[in-house]
Amino acid sequence: MRLLLVEDEERLRESLVFQLEKEGFTVDACGDGEEALYYIKQNIHDLILLDRMLPLLDGTQVLKAMRKEHNGTPVILITALGTLEDKVSGLDLGADDYLVKPFAFEELMARIRCIARRPRKLSQEELLTFRDISCSMGDSVLTGPGGSCSMSRRERDLLEIFLRNPGQTLSRPLLLTRVWGMDSDVEEGNLDNYIHFLRRRLKTVGSAVSIRTVRGIGYRMET
Ligand code: CA
Repeated sequence: MRLLLVEDEERLRESLVFQLEKEGFTVDACGDGEEALYYIKQNIHDLILLDRMLPLLDGTQVLKAMRKEHNGTPVILITALGTLEDKVSGLDLGADDYLVKPFAFEELMARIRCIARRPRKLSQEELLTFRDISCSMGDSVLTGPGGSCSMSRRERDLLEIFLRNPGQTLSRPLLLTRVWGMDSDVEEGNLDNYIHFLRRRLKTVGSAVSIRTVRGIGYRMET
């Protein structure tokens, strides 16, 4: 699992990163709301731990902005203010859970495990598009100017990352972690195989979209 931790108290941030990495998570960390939005736009995290009081943009503004962009990544809002009112407004804004400072690390882990167990919210209707293709996430069907085809779950997961980050070069480690998970011992060559499958799918549906190899780094979707 790849986490984003947004916390401006440096000592707390560093200590949480240390403990979370020890639990096996990949952690990106930053200390203000604007940087958080930059990370969130990459849409590569499975869960976001978001402090409420932050410089530049506070946690609720970050949450509001990402939900407005239809980014449904689960968020645990962390705050020093523990009043009921704050809790209600945080949940209204689309936080998935709420944690009050100071908290024990075990408590945080329990919340993370609880959210990780929830099935991913993938609406049948969710449709991701780029140029001349669209992919319906619920049934994994890719449609282009020349027709449609069904994809395997892995193919869909891989395509989803490209569709959510069009025109961006995505590194091999990032793609491997996102599609196969960080605990799996997937062979590097698997990624190349699946890229090959996706290229074939794009051809099948008559699309002008291509997945370009960026030597030494990874891949990029473009036209
Ligand atoms: Ca803070």
